[in-house]
Amino acid sequence: MTTRELPLDGMPAPPGGSILLGIAGSHGVVAGPAVVIESDKTGFPRRRILPAEEGVEWDRFAAAVSAVQADLNGMIESLEGGGPEASILGAYLLMVGDETLAHAVGAQIRDKHRCADWAVAAATTSIASQLSAVDDPYIRKRGYDVDFVGERLVRALGGEAESDAAVQVTEPSIVVAHDLSPADTAAMMSASVVGFITEVGSRTSHTAIMARALAIPAVVGVKDALRRIESGDQLVLDGLRGTVVIGPNDEQLEEAERRAGRYQALTSELGKHRGQPTVTKDGVKVSLHANIVLPAEARTARDHGAEGVGLYRTEYLYVNRKVPPSEDEQLTVFSKVLERMGDQPVTVRIFDIGGDKFITTFRLPQELNPMLGLRAVRLALSERDLLLAHLRAMVRASALGQVRIMIPLVATLDELSAVRDVLAEAKAQVAARGQPMADHIPLGVMIEVPSAALMADRFAAEADFMSIGTNDLVQYTLAIDRTNRALAYLASPYDPAVLRLIDGVIQAGRTHDCPVSLCGRMASTPLGALLLVGFGLREMSMESVAIPEIKQALKRASVPELEQLARSALELPTAAQVQALLVDALEPRLRDILSGEPNFVPDGSLGPRPGSQNSLE
Ligand code: PEP
Ligand code: MG
Repeated sequence: MTTRELPLDGMPAPPGGSILLGIAGSHGVVAGPAVVIESDKTGFPRRRILPAEEGVEWDRFAAAVSAVQADLNGMIESLEGGGPEASILGAYLLMVGDETLAHAVGAQIRDKHRCADWAVAAATTSIASQLSAVDDPYIRKRGYDVDFVGERLVRALGGEAESDAAVQVTEPSIVVAHDLSPADTAAMMSASVVGFITEVGSRTSHTAIMARALAIPAVVGVKDALRRIESGDQLVLDGLRGTVVIGPNDEQLEEAERRAGRYQALTSELGKHRGQPTVTKDGVKVSLHANIVLPAEARTARDHGAEGVGLYRTEYLYVNRKVPPSEDEQLTVFSKVLERMGDQPVTVRIFDIGGDKFITTFRLPQELNPMLGLRAVRLALSERDLLLAHLRAMVRASALGQVRIMIPLVATLDELSAVRDVLAEAKAQVAARGQPMADHIPLGVMIEVPSAALMADRFAAEADFMSIGTNDLVQYTLAIDRTNRALAYLASPYDPAVLRLIDGVIQAGRTHDCPVSLCGRMASTPLGALLLVGFGLREMSMESVAIPEIKQALKRASVPELEQLARSALELPTAAQVQALLVDALEPRLRDILSGEPNFVPDGSLGPRPGSQNSLE
């Protein structure tokens, strides 16, 4: 573990730029200019403009005013008979065309060199806050109206009606946002985004997962990033340490370059062993599979030496669209993945939507606790037709390669039976059309809810395989929202309660001859993976980029030693003590992998911090 002791969060680090501490979300070190994305409301890049662009931005503003006026007029007309709503809309109409607003926006464009979107947001926020400071309650309330008008103008400028604004970045930049929806993150693939920083999130939140899938360095959970970083600021983003430097000096820039180079050297060194089998020091075989989000990643998975796909997160098929993908469209995507994986198994997970993976295809209900609500298999079973189409696509894909179907967030045996019934129906429909399918399609469950872990013996007897999802298992066992940055330090898979559940699931699998894998982030960390082998796990699935590291880490320890470590870990009362045990036993021989640097030499200030979310731990 190599997190350098840094000055307090947000404190200037003399003599260089100020350093913000976050959580290492995706590996890599990168420098570049910031593009800040407004996110509470409609998203847009806060772009600084050149004097020559003032006219264009002013014209964009004028066009947005006309569009919003036309919209409001349309709404007023549709309210036949007028009424209070019509008079409110009439007031908005006046506000949109108001000279004070135009004046304020003009000043923002001209004097502060801000693009029209940013100018409107800044001008309306300033007018609204002036109104909110007035004593008269009537005038105070007009602040909300100005906000509303600003929001509509910003949307008109972006030409979008949905709140899932796609990130549009044209130059290589580091995106800074409060949070990024899956749609935003997916859009980064085509944009010139070289890194990103979010204020919320943890290592297992969807933003970090997507960043790793796209191999974009990221730091998440950076408190106050939006307040401290402005578009155009030069940044150094260190996705290994979880730090962001604002306005780095030459020395800091050079150090970042060196670290980026060393990380690349390590990855290419580890990559040389990709063709070799994964075995422990005493020759025990461990099967490493890949977690993928995007079909293109299947190639990356193979390039990194994956022996199959242990988790294909299909929910991202539903991102950035208003209607769900058709059965044929899904089949096309699945067949690409299968083709790329050759004869290796591909574990396709039924879409896990809801919780922190909010996707606009589904009009999900407003819930007080979405993580405990209509999510994953519950949502799938409540949308039977969509689930049927999804499963038909998987059934048809099974004729093209080794498909395994996996159910997310199973909490009861009834859910397994219910999905099995829908799968039988999907197979019957495919068969009735005369379309081919495999003779047997394994149906497995994810163990990520404590109830399922406690019932693992029953699941092991009924399911074809089990895969432990530690990201959610930690969340639900310890009652810690996995996206909550403030609690991230508590969310450890080394917590003894979590370890007992994992141990129980692996044992149940062994007793009932039911294969067990683990596809949570724990498997992507060298210490976690080694501990899991000690618990008896021989198959795990992780982000492709982690495979070479884990392969190398496994070579450096023997099974009896790891079994002894696992037994000792189960005796310990706290996560911190388990982590300390692992660090003491394993860190000296894993230093290069843990630091992300070959021939790493500790500088004395480094050392494991229990529960640390930074470094490769
Ligand atoms: C998990 O919960 O560990 C898991 C792998 O699923 P996801 O992260 O997609 O919820
Ligand atoms: Mg999960």
